[in-house]
Amino acid sequence: MAIAREESSKTLQPKEARTSTVWLSALNPADSPYVITTLEKEVIDLIRLHGELTKADFVSFTNYSRTKVSTCIDSLITRKVLATRDSGSFTGGRRSRVYSLNGGMGLIAGVDIGATSIDIVITDFRKNVLSRAGESANVREGPVVILEQVSTIINNQIEKLNKNINELVGIGIGVPGPVDYANGTLLSPPIMPGWDGYPIISTMQDFFPFASVVVDNDVNVMALGELAHGAAMGVDNLIFVKIGTGIGSGIICNGKIYRGTNGSAGDIGHICVDKHGPICHCGNVGCLEALAAGPAIAQRGLRALLDGKSQILKKYYDRNGGFIRAEDVGDAAREGDQSSIEIIRESGKMIGDVLAGLVNFYNPSMLIIGGGVSNIGNLLLSAIRQGVLNRSLPLATRDLQIIFSEIGLDAGVIGAVNLAIDNLFQIVTMSNQI
Ligand SMILES: [Zn+2]
Repeated sequence: MAIAREESSKTLQPKEARTSTVWLSALNPADSPYVITTLEKEVIDLIRLHGELTKADFVSFTNYSRTKVSTCIDSLITRKVLATRDSGSFTGGRRSRVYSLNGGMGLIAGVDIGATSIDIVITDFRKNVLSRAGESANVREGPVVILEQVSTIINNQIEKLNKNINELVGIGIGVPGPVDYANGTLLSPPIMPGWDGYPIISTMQDFFPFASVVVDNDVNVMALGELAHGAAMGVDNLIFVKIGTGIGSGIICNGKIYRGTNGSAGDIGHICVDKHGPICHCGNVGCLEALAAGPAIAQRGLRALLDGKSQILKKYYDRNGGFIRAEDVGDAAREGDQSSIEIIRESGKMIGDVLAGLVNFYNPSMLIIGGGVSNIGNLLLSAIRQGVLNRSLPLATRDLQIIFSEIGLDAGVIGAVNLAIDNLFQIVTMSNQI
């Protein structure tokens, strides 16, 4: 098996990463629906946010003249980016028309690669989910195995839909590690051996030559999902916090994802919260992730039951066959187990203390808590909330909402679809217009 994998990796040796810009250069911008002006981008973004709009809506949102808006919309309809229909109502004595993205422009795949799972949806441009699939996977098996698995799942889904693979025009992928966004590669990902610098984009484009591929960190992708379809719709400044095996955050600034200079913005899991704490897998001491993420909660639950402090956790330990998970500690807390309640309160408080620093620094209007450990529920949320409110400045928390993710586990795949659509539409300016 190991030999077969080695041989297979030789056939997929890293090549120069092909970015979507190269992919686009194969198209004639005059014909391409995806090469757009700044105004066209504004119109498309408004439609993606609101679904369907009339010309009057566009004028009121943009403050551009009706003539300018009409010219822009006509061009997008000619290039089949927009579709239109009779709204059935009258404005100023005329039947008014509504405009939406043309659902028939092609198919989009949203891919969420987790540490132990792959989830994929296929959608149209209106983000109607046409098909969804999930499989268990071990990201430690390396990019050759995992990307082949992703490709097989996508192919199967498209076949089931009776569609042609050439109709797949965009693939967005979220991965559980730090991503150099410009190159679409992971950089020294701690839980992903073999992925460092691997050319994910060109590998996927070998499987799907008609698709533009984009890769980002899973938490950024989840933040985008929440922005497009969840609690954050229309919110300009927010932080999405994922609490799972690790802890990370995605920052939305002025309605857009903020990645920082190299793509590592939001990596809050390795902020030190205890100089005398345990060693983290990153090599430092006392990181938030090492003290408050899922494995730390499970570890402290195990310690409590081994110390004879919790009969309820002992029950879960025996039922699982000799181990404790973070969700068991959450369930035990709901059953009233004092040790578990304390563990979750302490984890929530540590996370809340770090988030308080971010709130003082960044002044977001929303903190969204997601990821598998967030399923522990309100006890964790209220501890986080308390931690934030105790340590933040009153002005920074005056309009702050701290809530759970609205779309939960779907945030990854929905965000990946939005990432792919964002990536497909490239703005052409006068200086680089051909
Ligand atoms: Zn660390």
